[in-house]
Amino acid sequence: MTALVATDLDRTLVFSPAATRRLGGGLPSRPVEVVDGVVISELADVVAAGLETLAAQTVLVPTTTRTVGQLQRVALPETRYAVAANGGVVLDGGVADAEWAGRVEETLGAAMPLDEAVALLTAACPGARIREAEGLFCYAVGDPAALADQAFVLADSGWRPERQGRKLYLLPPALDKAPAVAYVAELAGADRVLAAGDSLLDRAMVLAADRGWVPARSPLAAEPLPPSVTVTAAPGHAAAAEIVSALVRATGG
Ligand SMILES: [Mg+2]
Repeated sequence: MTALVATDLDRTLVFSPAATRRLGGGLPSRPVEVVDGVVISELADVVAAGLETLAAQTVLVPTTTRTVGQLQRVALPETRYAVAANGGVVLDGGVADAEWAGRVEETLGAAMPLDEAVALLTAACPGARIREAEGLFCYAVGDPAALADQAFVLADSGWRPERQGRKLYLLPPALDKAPAVAYVAELAGADRVLAAGDSLLDRAMVLAADRGWVPARSPLAAEPLPPSVTVTAAPGHAAAAEIVSALVRATGG
């Protein structure tokens, strides 16, 4: 049996120092993402070791809303596959899978053009920096409290607003991690999918998996979840450690 492990990165495996202060669950950790001398993300040492094991014994697929560039600057164990842009990009050996890109284009063809979404987001978020991601969706970077209100305003835009910390994403509703993970499972010949994630953007992926894990004190932990999904006892890095050790046990031997 081949198991595929799809796991979100931010606030599932890696945490900013600020998120760790807020969430708790701190463990000895190392910086895995540094921009202009500032530590953006840390990975607990025990989680790093668990990921090395998972990369060796399963098809490990980092699955993130980050752009390809933002994903590639995080120092993680090397994996053949990764999912970026909230399912919009499947990387195979570091290269975007063209077949998947074609399917995404077809699926999103009927959605509102990105330019219009950018205009809506810009109008809704005065003072925030607006960014486009992989030509698929956009996000605003700004004050978290203001962005929470603006997410509410964008709820009937036809696109999916999702605030995570200092970012407010606006995504086409059909752009999701779950179908991308199913596609990678097909490519890899996996017959079992295990998934972990902390946010509402991970919900479909975690629910579609044979088994799922969700960190305590995360937005997804506050949602109704089926028995296939386990919520960890501890938050933060300690949650990541629980998740990775459960994944190692579930896929070993
Ligand atoms: Mg996350």
